[in-house]
Amino acid sequence: MKIGFIGLGNMGAPMAANLAKAGHDLTGFDTAGVSVEGVTKAETATDAVRGAEAVITMLPNGDILRAVADQIIPHMEKGAVFIDCSTVDVDSARAVAEQAEQAGLLAVDAPVSGGIGGAAAGTLTFMAGGSDAAFAKAAPLFEIMGQKAVHCGAAGAGQAAKICNNMILGVTMIATCEAFALADKLGLDRQKMFDVVSTSSGYSWSMNAYCPAPGVGPQSPADNDYKPGFAAELMLKDLRLSQQAAESADADTPMGQIATALYEQFVEAEDGKGMDFSAMLPRFEKRGRS
Ligand code: NAD
Repeated sequence: MKIGFIGLGNMGAPMAANLAKAGHDLTGFDTAGVSVEGVTKAETATDAVRGAEAVITMLPNGDILRAVADQIIPHMEKGAVFIDCSTVDVDSARAVAEQAEQAGLLAVDAPVSGGIGGAAAGTLTFMAGGSDAAFAKAAPLFEIMGQKAVHCGAAGAGQAAKICNNMILGVTMIATCEAFALADKLGLDRQKMFDVVSTSSGYSWSMNAYCPAPGVGPQSPADNDYKPGFAAELMLKDLRLSQQAAESADADTPMGQIATALYEQFVEAEDGKGMDFSAMLPRFEKRGRS
């Protein structure tokens, strides 16, 4: 398939490389002038999409996605599929899908989970929103870049699933970290805490698969000085998107709101920027009640 790929950053570059490795004909564009092995470098975004049957975007946010969509949609072939894999707000995802459909294109919002490691290994999970026809056209590409793709519903449903998942993740990570800090102060051994909670009703992915305590549970960023992994500022981005969506849908999300405020403080006023999001544990460890 002839594919245009726009946004060749930490995630986009390995995703594009995997598609090229699988035998697809890739043309890529990034404003930073990035080159990726096996991907023909285009001078402009419009050059990257001309004649492509599929166009994939992997961009930082909704405003940039909207700007790129304005640029490329008029130059895309009718019937081609526009697949946005960035994490953006639900409103931008829906607006871009509508614009693409009005231009005779198929559109899928397909944010991912799995991080940079998953992008390189081709083991991402895609959460997709769009019509059946659009999903069917994109599915073989998801199979190359990932290990699982869930068709969540109409346009915007992929972004909705992603931010709901990550709101749970932010909240449970904070709960897990504050519980470890409390356990420390109660003189409870961290390994014992893990042994109990990971097999009791307090278990979660944050505890069992990504334990924030160094030397406890499976290998995680905690065992590597909290180097990301999944950076605290990316968690903050996703939590902010969840609160933007909650605002726009009039949903009551008090825990999501508190998690957003805590990550905001951690990233912007403390030393959380550039650390893994599980570094909330050393943060709580240093603090007292007031
Ligand atoms: P990144 O900043 O490394 O990459 C974004 C790329 O887009 C950059 O190379 C930048 O130069 C390029 N770009 C910006 N504006 C552009 C434009 N107008 N035209 C063309 N290229 C442009 O970010 P990333 O880590 O690759 O993340 C990309 C998206 O994936 C984000 O929406 C992020 O939230 C999401 N995501 C990231 C992770 C992760 O672990 N990094 C995990 C899941 C989802």
